[in-house]
Amino acid sequence: MLIIGSHVSFTKDKQMLGSLEEALSYGANTFMFYTGAPQNTIRYEINKERIEDAKKKMLENNIDINNVIVHAPYIINLANDDATKYDFSINFLKGEIKRCEELGISYMVLHPGSHVGLGIERGIENIIHALNIVLKDSNNVTILLETMAGKGSEVGSKFEEIKKIIDGIERKELIGVCMDTCHLNDSGYDISKFDDVLDEFDKIIGLKYLHCIHVNDSKNPLGARKDRHENIGYGTIGFENLLKVLYHEKLDDIPKILETPYILDKAPYKEEIEMIKSRKFNEKLKEIVD
Ligand code: FE
Ligand code: FE
Ligand code: ZN
Repeated sequence: MLIIGSHVSFTKDKQMLGSLEEALSYGANTFMFYTGAPQNTIRYEINKERIEDAKKKMLENNIDINNVIVHAPYIINLANDDATKYDFSINFLKGEIKRCEELGISYMVLHPGSHVGLGIERGIENIIHALNIVLKDSNNVTILLETMAGKGSEVGSKFEEIKKIIDGIERKELIGVCMDTCHLNDSGYDISKFDDVLDEFDKIIGLKYLHCIHVNDSKNPLGARKDRHENIGYGTIGFENLLKVLYHEKLDDIPKILETPYILDKAPYKEEIEMIKSRKFNEKLKEIVD
């Protein structure tokens, strides 16, 4: 069965219940959210009642909470060992894991980090060291390393780099990977030959580590190392190639999450999910969303 959703909001008041309601309004059967603003450290206390409300409503709507994903904020950078920033990132990530545990969420996507000129090897060492500290305290939240576009000094734009990180992790049962199709394209993996990409992933990392896919089109050509998401079918990857990812037989039970840009301040997810379910490209998407 296709497990499809999008990024949704998480507000102080309604929390995960609001996220769920937003997802349902898009016709989604899963979703992804930040537990607070991704660019700052303000975090509201998790409201226990709201969790129960959300879980009840998930049950009523056949949504499995194990398919629901949290995204770690991008202010976290585990690749930079500058003392204050490193400690901040480690502690903040520990807090985010606690929040996932409170919410009952099993998977949190994390950008591996940027080495800011320290070099890829040292960046990888820093990430491993930090993740081993963070995962010591985790009971059942698995961290999914996202495949990156390779913008700036990002670590994790090559499967080999992700593999090296995983190799250094002590509690391997708590580490996994999230593929992002826009990032794959921008880092040089050709989605029009997705079977080959998946084979390479399996050979280098192992398919058993794959637990989430961010499905985005890209504004830039193969290998551009840019990371600018485009709406489904409107970018350089294209609708048919993205459908092959979405409906790939080996990825049937893996949650697919859209992180495509808003169109005129409106979320495009309802229309994009419709396109995906009907497998029919909507060439008026950018006109009718208003
Ligand atoms: Fe991400
Ligand atoms: Fe992503
Ligand atoms: Zn991105």
